[in-house]
Amino acid sequence: MNLSYWEIKSWFSHVDYTIVGSGIVGLSCALSLKDRFPKANILILEKGILPQGASSKNAGFACFGSLSEILDDLTTHTEEEVINIVKKRVEGLQLLRSNLGDKNINYLQYGGYELFSKEDDMLYESCLSKRAQINAFLKPVFKEEVFSLVENKFHFKNIKEYYIFKQFEEQIDTGKMIESLLHKALSKGIKILNNVQVKSYEENNNRVNVNSNLFEFSTSKLLIATNGFASQLIEEPVKPARAQVLITKPIENLHINGTFHLDKGYYYFRNIDNRILFGGGRNLDFKGEETTEFSQTELIQNTLERILKTTILPNHSFEIEYRWSGIMGVGNQKQAIVKQLSNNVYCGVRLGGMGVAIGSTIGKDLSLLIS
Ligand SMILES: Cc1cc2nc3c(=O)[nH]c(=O)nc-3n(C[C@H](O)[C@H](O)[C@H](O)COP(=O)(O)OP(=O)(O)OC[C@H]3O[C@@H](n4cnc5c(N)ncnc54)[C@H](O)[C@@H]3O)c2cc1C
Repeated sequence: MNLSYWEIKSWFSHVDYTIVGSGIVGLSCALSLKDRFPKANILILEKGILPQGASSKNAGFACFGSLSEILDDLTTHTEEEVINIVKKRVEGLQLLRSNLGDKNINYLQYGGYELFSKEDDMLYESCLSKRAQINAFLKPVFKEEVFSLVENKFHFKNIKEYYIFKQFEEQIDTGKMIESLLHKALSKGIKILNNVQVKSYEENNNRVNVNSNLFEFSTSKLLIATNGFASQLIEEPVKPARAQVLITKPIENLHINGTFHLDKGYYYFRNIDNRILFGGGRNLDFKGEETTEFSQTELIQNTLERILKTTILPNHSFEIEYRWSGIMGVGNQKQAIVKQLSNNVYCGVRLGGMGVAIGSTIGKDLSLLIS
């Protein structure tokens, strides 16, 4: 791309901080940097026309973990680690809300539910028997009982007669969230360039040279917030994990409100605009879903439709209106990777399936690596 003198002077000279990726982490990092260094020249480079990873594709669950997930985490992490993971999610959600305002993200407190399939006696019994213990374990964070039991009030089929209810789980409008973040960043003078894919970078005389598909320039500091695509630029243990979703057309007399986790969270659904948004099924083909390709598979989409028909909406007729996928960044540990990689290069990646909850904090933590 042949840049003019004016373009070079306005966009690519004296760049202080360049952020790769305009998902929740990249945008939150940019906003935090602008708060800390109001005069800084901040540039975000994004490969998609819109943010093109997970932040504008997700289900909008503002959650901190279901009972079965916390029990599972306690088998692989210490109690202190698990409490810290939960705290980080709760703090992250508070930060998201205070940064953007509840109205701007359509924050709704319907609560969250964990459902158990009819055959899953072991998991169900284990969750019921350990519920009081986990409530006591989480008391220091929430001050109140977190998990309670409710009857099958939404009349789902093929599930156990009680759900586990989480009063503190909320939902947001994902599109509004990312729109508000973009709007806020632009209003503070942060520059965002779309359709620019960073291909490589190298450190040179205390600056970083950045090579993209369209141009090259140099920046004082480079911050990488590319999550599921991280291994294309840096060597950190992050794997892509595609997640597929579908949404119905509006359904008359739909009285389902809340966020729902089924089968250890491998499936999740919620109400939105009189529709049901339903995703999951990665466990049907973990290897096949370890990809950065945005597409859907028959195996997963057909399974989603079948469960929708037989379990979630057995008494409603419905049609599917849209299907899509997004790319998450996962690893064999739950903690995100937020670190300095070299003199002037930093990263905040590997948010797993919890980026709505922790993305604002991870973005802020990434900015705090710069003194
Ligand atoms: C279907 C789905 C449902 C989910 N549901 C939930 C949920 O309900 N609750 C929850 O908490 N979390 C959920 N998540 C996870 C959450 O969305 C992610 O953890 C979070 O969005 C990650 O944010 P991020 O900014 O780190 O990454 P991303 O949003 O993926 O942003 C990274 C950006 O970097 C850009 N990029 C990558 N490489 C380059 C490059 N070389 N040059 C320029 N730009 C580049 C990408 O285009 C992308 O826009 C879900 C994810 C998916 C996919």
